[in-house]
Amino acid sequence: MMKKLFVSLSVFFILVGCSKEAEYVQPEVNSVFYEIYVGSFYDSDGDGSGDLEGVRQKLDYIQYDLGATGVWLMPIHPSPTYHKYDVMDYKGIDADYGTMEDFDNLVNEMNERGMTLILDLVLNHSSTQHPWFQEAKYAMVEGSCDGVVTCEYYNFTSEYQSRYHLLSEGIYYEGGFWDQMPDLNLDSVSLRNELVEIAKFWIDKGVGGFRLDATTHFYDGEKEKNIEFLNWFNSEVKAINPDAYIVGEAWTTDAIIQDMYQSGIDSFFNFGTSQNSGAILKSMRNGDGKALSNMIANYNAILKENNENAIDAVFLSNHDNNRSAGYFITLEDQKKAASIYLLMPGNPFIYYGEEVALKGSGKDENKRLPIAWDASGEGMPNPPKDADYKAQEYTYVDEALKDKDSLLNHYKKVIYLRNQYPSISRGMVESVDLGSNALYALAHNDDIMVVHNLGKEQVSFDLDHDKVVGVNGEFSVKGNTITLEEGTSVIIER
Ligand code: CA
Repeated sequence: MMKKLFVSLSVFFILVGCSKEAEYVQPEVNSVFYEIYVGSFYDSDGDGSGDLEGVRQKLDYIQYDLGATGVWLMPIHPSPTYHKYDVMDYKGIDADYGTMEDFDNLVNEMNERGMTLILDLVLNHSSTQHPWFQEAKYAMVEGSCDGVVTCEYYNFTSEYQSRYHLLSEGIYYEGGFWDQMPDLNLDSVSLRNELVEIAKFWIDKGVGGFRLDATTHFYDGEKEKNIEFLNWFNSEVKAINPDAYIVGEAWTTDAIIQDMYQSGIDSFFNFGTSQNSGAILKSMRNGDGKALSNMIANYNAILKENNENAIDAVFLSNHDNNRSAGYFITLEDQKKAASIYLLMPGNPFIYYGEEVALKGSGKDENKRLPIAWDASGEGMPNPPKDADYKAQEYTYVDEALKDKDSLLNHYKKVIYLRNQYPSISRGMVESVDLGSNALYALAHNDDIMVVHNLGKEQVSFDLDHDKVVGVNGEFSVKGNTITLEEGTSVIIER
């Protein structure tokens, strides 16, 4: 009787309930992440700041309207700055963003939905206002660090060196990014124990992993020591939860990023393909698709050599970069760029607002502007205080959702297709020569091939296949001959 009632209720909800939810198919792997600057996302209480409850209220949008099942929150811990990359309490929630109860509601609902939440963890430095630094500073100035373990959490010297700042006469401390961000001494065993406790605190709350900030700066210029630290941290986190996912920021050369995978960390961001200097934009400009698929195949082969479970982390731009709508200018190019990176191997990371062509460049605040939900401005946070970017022409999310040709609906379509073929996210890749330099052709395992025509002309090629699925643009099939118009992307089932 209960079972029958349950079935009837399910049918009821499918017929009467939210149709988006009824249409939704949970992907086999949560590969698509959405990076959120909480302060500019959705303001649930009208105080001008985006907040965690606002993120929770937009989970339908993220999961059903867009299709992302992972969320990376930029730092949410108490901090004196708008960006919050200088943390005062690694186990707290910044009051601008809400309360621990709001956080618990968010992470619990995400887990119920089968989504993954990862937190930005800033281990390179703290805020000068962190109690660790305050205590260490007092002890250093008083000349007595006896029994004060926090004195070893930071790097103090008696003589000035570059990257160091004056604490008090004859005492300097390291702060490579800023004098308000003292570098942590990651050699300290006591500090390392604290970091494990912090990771455990959040994992116990249901967090699925971490995005590690500034990993190449842990020990500046000392790659092997960075790898050693990351190897240690990864082991500690995986001992708490073997399924925890860690993605590191190593904003450096491809060769160093590839080496960092020796640490065992799941992912590092692929800076070489991203931004206005990266290979995706370059290959679109010069029409050389083959060079891009060759590069991606070679890159991923090296990752797998260094860590057989490596997952490339691809993106167009993030909170530190000029927004991608500033260099993928036309809707056509924005769709093309999305088709390319959202069908690359590994995990794609969408920077919030990118799907509605939000713009912003120059100072960091301009890269973190609010998303516009609708013309009423309801729920739209204030921009960061020092933002001065004026060139915005907002695409309202509610209007983009209704327009079948919008960039947002293109993102949704590509992510939906990606999720149909798990080998795109986790398969072995091989670049295939289809006889034209214009063609990006990447085989994912033996079952599918992603092909983009990045040239200016129609291209035909012969390939045994079962089915051609359109992603973007026009194509035709006659027997084994597949013809792609300029700018067309397809997935070929083999
Ligand atoms: Ca708010």
